[in-house]
Amino acid sequence: MILPTNRLGRFARHIVLPEVGGAGQAVLAQARVVLIGLGGIGAPALQYLAAAGVGTLVVVDDDVVEESNLQRQTIYREDEIGHRKAELAEVWVSEFDSELEVHWKVQRVTPDNAGEVIAGADLVLDGCDNFATRLAVSDACVAARIPLLSAAVGRFQGQVGAFAGHLPDQPCYRCYVGDAFDADDCDTCAEDGMLGAMAGWSGTFAALQAIRVLLAPTGGMGDPQWGKLHLLDGLAPSLRTMTIAKDPACRGCAS
Ligand SMILES: [Zn+2]
Repeated sequence: MILPTNRLGRFARHIVLPEVGGAGQAVLAQARVVLIGLGGIGAPALQYLAAAGVGTLVVVDDDVVEESNLQRQTIYREDEIGHRKAELAEVWVSEFDSELEVHWKVQRVTPDNAGEVIAGADLVLDGCDNFATRLAVSDACVAARIPLLSAAVGRFQGQVGAFAGHLPDQPCYRCYVGDAFDADDCDTCAEDGMLGAMAGWSGTFAALQAIRVLLAPTGGMGDPQWGKLHLLDGLAPSLRTMTIAKDPACRGCAS
Protein backbone atom coordinates (compact mmCIF):
# COMPACT_ATOMS: atom_id res chain seq x y z
CA MET A 1 0.00 0.00 0.00
CA ILE A 2 1.21 3.49 -0.87
CA LEU A 3 0.20 6.66 0.94
CA PRO A 4 -2.04 8.88 -1.23
CA THR A 5 -0.24 12.03 -2.44
CA ASN A 6 -2.73 14.29 -0.63
CA ARG A 7 -1.44 12.86 2.67
CA LEU A 8 2.28 13.36 2.07
CA GLY A 9 2.42 16.93 3.36
CA ARG A 10 0.56 16.19 6.57
CA PHE A 11 2.97 13.39 7.50
CA ALA A 12 6.17 14.89 6.07
CA ARG A 13 8.00 14.83 9.44
CA HIS A 14 7.23 11.13 9.83
CA ILE A 15 8.14 10.25 6.28
CA VAL A 16 11.66 11.69 6.58
CA LEU A 17 12.33 9.49 9.62
CA PRO A 18 14.05 6.28 8.50
CA GLU A 19 12.18 4.47 11.32
CA VAL A 20 8.81 5.40 9.78
CA GLY A 21 9.19 6.48 6.16
CA GLY A 22 6.52 6.24 3.50
CA ALA A 23 6.13 2.51 4.12
CA GLY A 24 5.64 2.94 7.85
CA GLN A 25 3.19 5.77 7.36
CA ALA A 26 1.19 3.57 5.00
CA VAL A 27 1.12 0.87 7.69
CA LEU A 28 -0.25 3.40 10.18
CA ALA A 29 -2.88 4.51 7.67
CA GLN A 30 -4.02 0.90 7.31
CA ALA A 31 -4.03 0.20 11.05
CA ARG A 32 -7.10 -0.23 13.24
CA VAL A 33 -6.61 0.61 16.93
CA VAL A 34 -9.25 0.12 19.62
CA LEU A 35 -8.94 2.51 22.57
CA ILE A 36 -10.60 1.33 25.76
CA GLY A 37 -11.16 4.24 28.14
CA LEU A 38 -11.12 7.89 27.08
CA GLY A 39 -9.85 9.42 30.30
CA GLY A 40 -6.44 10.53 31.50
CA ILE A 41 -4.62 7.98 29.33
CA GLY A 42 -7.06 7.65 26.46
CA ALA A 43 -7.55 11.36 25.71
CA PRO A 44 -3.88 12.26 25.11
CA ALA A 45 -3.19 8.87 23.50
CA LEU A 46 -6.06 9.45 21.08
CA GLN A 47 -4.67 12.85 20.11
CA TYR A 48 -1.27 11.42 19.18
CA LEU A 49 -2.63 8.31 17.46
CA ALA A 50 -4.95 10.46 15.34
CA ALA A 51 -2.13 12.92 14.66
CA ALA A 52 0.05 9.98 13.59
CA GLY A 53 -2.51 9.08 10.95
CA VAL A 54 -3.72 5.77 12.40
CA GLY A 55 -6.38 5.08 9.79
CA THR A 56 -9.16 3.57 11.89
CA LEU A 57 -9.82 4.38 15.53
CA VAL A 58 -12.47 2.74 17.68
CA VAL A 59 -13.14 4.72 20.86
CA VAL A 60 -14.84 2.96 23.76
CA ASP A 61 -16.04 4.48 27.04
CA ASP A 62 -19.28 4.37 29.03
CA ASP A 63 -18.68 7.56 30.98
CA VAL A 64 -19.60 11.23 30.67
CA VAL A 65 -17.30 14.22 31.07
CA GLU A 66 -17.09 15.63 34.59
CA GLU A 67 -15.67 18.99 35.56
CA SER A 68 -12.79 17.33 37.43
CA ASN A 69 -11.71 15.56 34.20
CA LEU A 70 -10.75 18.79 32.45
CA GLN A 71 -7.48 19.15 34.37
CA ARG A 72 -5.99 16.23 32.40
CA GLN A 73 -8.39 14.94 29.71
CA THR A 74 -7.39 17.44 27.09
CA ILE A 75 -9.85 16.70 24.29
CA TYR A 76 -12.88 17.87 26.31
CA ARG A 77 -14.15 21.41 26.89
CA GLU A 78 -16.21 22.89 29.71
CA ASP A 79 -19.31 23.14 27.56
CA GLU A 80 -19.13 19.35 27.09
CA ILE A 81 -19.53 18.46 30.78
CA GLY A 82 -22.24 15.81 31.09
CA HIS A 83 -21.84 14.58 27.52
CA ARG A 84 -20.65 11.11 26.60
CA LYS A 85 -16.89 10.81 26.15
CA ALA A 86 -17.05 8.26 23.34
CA GLU A 87 -19.30 10.47 21.25
CA LEU A 88 -17.16 13.57 21.92
CA ALA A 89 -13.98 11.68 21.05
CA GLU A 90 -15.50 10.66 17.73
CA VAL A 91 -16.33 14.28 16.95
CA TRP A 92 -12.84 15.39 18.05
CA VAL A 93 -11.17 12.94 15.67
CA SER A 94 -13.36 13.76 12.69
CA GLU A 95 -12.81 17.50 13.14
CA PHE A 96 -9.07 16.99 13.58
CA ASP A 97 -8.52 14.80 10.51
CA SER A 98 -11.51 14.21 8.26
CA GLU A 99 -9.79 11.34 6.45
CA LEU A 100 -9.56 9.10 9.49
CA GLU A 101 -12.27 6.53 10.10
CA VAL A 102 -13.58 6.63 13.66
CA HIS A 103 -16.22 4.57 15.44
CA TRP A 104 -17.54 5.06 18.96
CA LYS A 105 -19.02 2.67 21.45
CA VAL A 106 -20.67 3.65 24.72
CA GLN A 107 -20.02 0.44 26.54
CA ARG A 108 -18.54 -0.87 29.74
CA VAL A 109 -16.26 -3.69 28.65
CA THR A 110 -16.95 -6.99 30.39
CA PRO A 111 -15.79 -10.59 29.84
CA ASP A 112 -19.03 -11.11 27.88
CA ASN A 113 -18.58 -8.32 25.33
CA ALA A 114 -14.79 -7.76 25.23
CA GLY A 115 -14.25 -10.06 22.24
CA GLU A 116 -16.81 -8.19 20.16
CA VAL A 117 -15.44 -4.76 21.21
CA ILE A 118 -11.87 -5.53 20.11
CA ALA A 119 -12.68 -7.59 17.01
CA GLY A 120 -10.59 -6.77 13.97
CA ALA A 121 -8.06 -4.60 15.82
CA ASP A 122 -4.36 -4.58 14.98
CA LEU A 123 -3.75 -3.28 18.50
CA VAL A 124 -5.79 -2.54 21.60
CA LEU A 125 -4.74 0.35 23.81
CA ASP A 126 -6.26 -0.01 27.25
CA GLY A 127 -6.25 3.06 29.45
CA CYS A 128 -9.37 2.29 31.48
CA ASP A 129 -9.72 2.92 35.20
CA ASN A 130 -10.44 -0.50 36.67
CA PHE A 131 -8.87 -3.94 36.90
CA ALA A 132 -12.01 -5.91 36.00
CA THR A 133 -12.10 -4.26 32.57
CA ARG A 134 -8.33 -4.51 32.13
CA LEU A 135 -8.39 -8.26 32.76
CA ALA A 136 -11.42 -8.78 30.50
CA VAL A 137 -9.65 -6.87 27.73
CA SER A 138 -6.42 -8.79 28.26
CA ASP A 139 -8.11 -12.20 28.11
CA ALA A 140 -10.00 -11.18 24.96
CA CYS A 141 -6.76 -9.96 23.33
CA VAL A 142 -5.03 -13.27 24.03
CA ALA A 143 -7.99 -15.21 22.64
CA ALA A 144 -8.14 -13.05 19.49
CA ARG A 145 -4.31 -12.95 19.14
CA ILE A 146 -4.30 -9.14 19.25
CA PRO A 147 -1.42 -7.22 20.90
CA LEU A 148 -2.31 -5.14 23.95
CA LEU A 149 -0.77 -1.88 25.05
CA SER A 150 -1.78 -1.38 28.66
CA ALA A 151 -1.32 1.97 30.40
CA ALA A 152 -2.23 3.33 33.82
CA VAL A 153 -1.52 6.49 35.79
CA GLY A 154 -2.03 7.80 39.30
CA ARG A 155 -0.50 10.59 41.40
CA PHE A 156 2.96 10.99 39.83
CA GLN A 157 3.35 7.39 38.60
CA GLY A 158 2.62 5.93 35.19
CA GLN A 159 2.89 2.38 33.84
CA VAL A 160 2.98 1.45 30.18
CA GLY A 161 3.49 -2.12 28.94
CA ALA A 162 3.13 -4.05 25.69
CA PHE A 163 1.71 -7.57 25.87
CA ALA A 164 1.45 -10.39 23.36
CA GLY A 165 0.23 -13.23 25.56
CA HIS A 166 -0.95 -15.18 22.52
CA LEU A 167 2.71 -15.86 21.70
CA PRO A 168 4.04 -18.98 23.43
CA ASP A 169 6.97 -17.25 25.12
CA GLN A 170 5.35 -13.90 25.98
CA PRO A 171 3.33 -12.86 29.05
CA CYS A 172 -0.12 -11.33 29.07
CA TYR A 173 -1.38 -8.57 31.36
CA ARG A 174 -2.92 -11.20 33.66
CA CYS A 175 0.53 -12.79 34.11
CA TYR A 176 1.54 -9.43 35.57
CA VAL A 177 -1.37 -8.68 37.93
CA GLY A 178 -2.73 -12.18 38.66
CA ASP A 179 -6.35 -13.06 39.35
CA ALA A 180 -6.95 -11.07 42.53
CA PHE A 181 -8.39 -8.04 40.78
CA ASP A 182 -11.26 -9.52 38.76
CA ALA A 183 -13.82 -8.21 41.25
CA ASP A 184 -15.70 -5.13 40.11
CA ASP A 185 -15.02 -3.22 43.32
CA CYS A 186 -11.26 -3.15 42.83
CA ASP A 187 -11.11 0.11 40.94
CA THR A 188 -7.92 2.10 41.13
CA CYS A 189 -8.24 4.98 43.53
CA ALA A 190 -9.43 8.10 41.76
CA GLU A 191 -9.41 9.86 45.12
CA ASP A 192 -5.60 9.54 45.22
CA GLY A 193 -5.26 12.46 42.84
CA MET A 194 -3.06 12.90 39.80
CA LEU A 195 -0.97 15.64 38.32
CA GLY A 196 -2.58 16.39 34.96
CA ALA A 197 0.64 16.48 32.98
CA MET A 198 1.47 13.03 34.36
CA ALA A 199 -1.58 11.68 32.51
CA GLY A 200 -0.33 13.48 29.41
CA TRP A 201 3.13 11.94 29.68
CA SER A 202 1.77 8.43 30.29
CA GLY A 203 -0.85 8.70 27.54
CA THR A 204 1.52 10.04 24.93
CA PHE A 205 4.15 7.47 25.93
CA ALA A 206 1.47 4.81 25.42
CA ALA A 207 0.82 6.27 21.95
CA LEU A 208 4.56 6.12 21.20
CA GLN A 209 4.72 2.47 22.24
CA ALA A 210 1.54 1.71 20.28
CA ILE A 211 3.16 3.14 17.16
CA ARG A 212 6.27 1.02 17.89
CA VAL A 213 4.07 -2.10 17.94
CA LEU A 214 2.21 -1.12 14.76
CA LEU A 215 5.49 -0.47 12.93
CA ALA A 216 7.15 -3.66 14.15
CA PRO A 217 6.33 -5.65 10.98
CA THR A 218 8.29 -3.08 8.94
CA GLY A 219 11.26 -3.22 11.32
CA GLY A 220 10.57 0.47 11.96
CA MET A 221 11.31 1.28 15.59
CA GLY A 222 12.76 -2.15 16.33
CA ASP A 223 11.63 -4.61 18.96
CA PRO A 224 7.97 -4.18 20.01
CA GLN A 225 9.12 -4.72 23.63
CA TRP A 226 6.65 -7.45 24.57
CA GLY A 227 6.54 -8.05 28.30
CA LYS A 228 8.40 -4.85 29.15
CA LEU A 229 6.67 -2.64 31.68
CA HIS A 230 7.89 0.94 31.74
CA LEU A 231 7.48 2.79 35.02
CA LEU A 232 7.24 6.54 34.67
CA ASP A 233 8.03 8.60 37.76
CA GLY A 234 7.11 12.24 37.42
CA LEU A 235 8.56 13.33 40.74
CA ALA A 236 12.14 12.07 40.33
CA PRO A 237 11.72 12.26 37.30
CA SER A 238 12.80 8.90 35.90
CA LEU A 239 11.88 6.00 33.67
CA ARG A 240 12.53 2.41 34.74
CA THR A 241 11.78 -0.80 32.86
CA MET A 242 10.75 -4.17 34.30
CA THR A 243 10.50 -7.46 32.44
CA ILE A 244 7.33 -9.46 33.12
CA ALA A 245 7.68 -13.24 33.04
CA LYS A 246 5.09 -15.51 31.47
CA ASP A 247 3.19 -17.34 34.21
CA PRO A 248 2.96 -21.00 33.17
CA ALA A 249 -0.22 -21.30 35.26
CA CYS A 250 -1.85 -18.09 33.94
CA ARG A 251 -5.52 -18.62 33.19
CA GLY A 252 -5.36 -15.92 30.52
CA CYS A 253 -2.54 -17.20 28.35
CA ALA A 254 -1.12 -20.54 29.48
CA SER A 255 -1.68 -23.21 26.86
ZN1 LIG B 1 -0.83 -14.66 31.06
